[in-house]
Amino acid sequence: MKVTEILQENIGKKLVSFELLPPLKGKSIEHLYNILEPLIDFNPPFIDVTYHREEYEYKITPNGYFEKIAVRKRPGTVGICSAIQHKYEIEAVPHLICGGFSKQETENALIDLHFLGIHNILALRGDARRLDKTFVPEKDGHHYAVNLVKQINQMNQGVYLDKDLVDGAKTDFCIGVAGYPEKHFEAANYEEDLLFLKAKVEAGADYIVTQMFFDNQVFFKFVKDCRDLGINVPIIPGIKPLTKMGQLKGIPSNFYINFPDELVKEARKCKDDLAVRELGTEWCTAQSKELFEQGASCIHFYTMSDQKVVSKVCSEIL
Ligand code: FAD
Repeated sequence: MKVTEILQENIGKKLVSFELLPPLKGKSIEHLYNILEPLIDFNPPFIDVTYHREEYEYKITPNGYFEKIAVRKRPGTVGICSAIQHKYEIEAVPHLICGGFSKQETENALIDLHFLGIHNILALRGDARRLDKTFVPEKDGHHYAVNLVKQINQMNQGVYLDKDLVDGAKTDFCIGVAGYPEKHFEAANYEEDLLFLKAKVEAGADYIVTQMFFDNQVFFKFVKDCRDLGINVPIIPGIKPLTKMGQLKGIPSNFYINFPDELVKEARKCKDDLAVRELGTEWCTAQSKELFEQGASCIHFYTMSDQKVVSKVCSEIL
């Protein structure tokens, strides 16, 4: 079932979905099941699985030189999605990125997903590799998520890269894209970022999932601004609980978002991480309750492999 059909069928209800990271290379899939198992009790209609491209690392060689090598620490997104759909009969949403993929490789990945019975994709650009200053697409890869959306949409119409290929099987992917209530960090300004978001929808995106936010007013304004601009697809709020004092610095520097003043002041009063975690759980619970009250029918939780705190929030709101 498509994410948009799920949302349509559940207007006025309270749904939660979760985003999971593939286990680190070398760990078994049981590691992921252990994270997912307690969350299944909340009947998520879909589960997202993130995609992690290769990163460059420097390794010292026996002769004392540094060697630059590419390492993929969290492979397995497609396999995990297929395993989740088989084991739990829950729709799995693989994240697919532009980074590291040529158009041909994207096409082949889409064929695999289609054959596996995966109906939903979150189409993203991906970030720059840590050692690159800016995002560098593959030779013949996509520069922006909008181009990936266009390619998926073309395949939904049976159009493949090889123009000689006629009567190509039509895929039927429901396409999600990312939206940034506090603007994407590279965007010249918020207004232009919204225009690029609109372009993704016009290219065929069916729904939007937001970057995390801790201030619901920011999300409500974002939704209104999108609607005023004619972006009319569903917008799913993505949130996560604050769990450690260090995140007051780490989250803004990694995700380019602000913490509301009240949350920062309360967190600074906490004597340890346990107290921050309690505060973060209460804050996220209150945030979720208000989002549901204001009409959200699905809240997407970034679990970041901390299923316990997300479970606590879900047990308070459902
Ligand atoms: P785009 O929509 O392509 O936008 C990127 C930037 O380019 C923006 O600043 C935009 O304003 C600008 N832009 C867009 N179109 C144009 C244009 N035509 N001309 C000029 N500028 C333009 N990353 C991963 O690697 N793996 C994941 O699994 C993953 N999951 C995510 C899930 C969610 C819900 C979110 C919000 C983000 C996720 N990310 C993930 C991070 C994401 O890849 C980064 O935020 C990335 O920097 C931008 O991706 P995007 O799809 O929003 O890019």
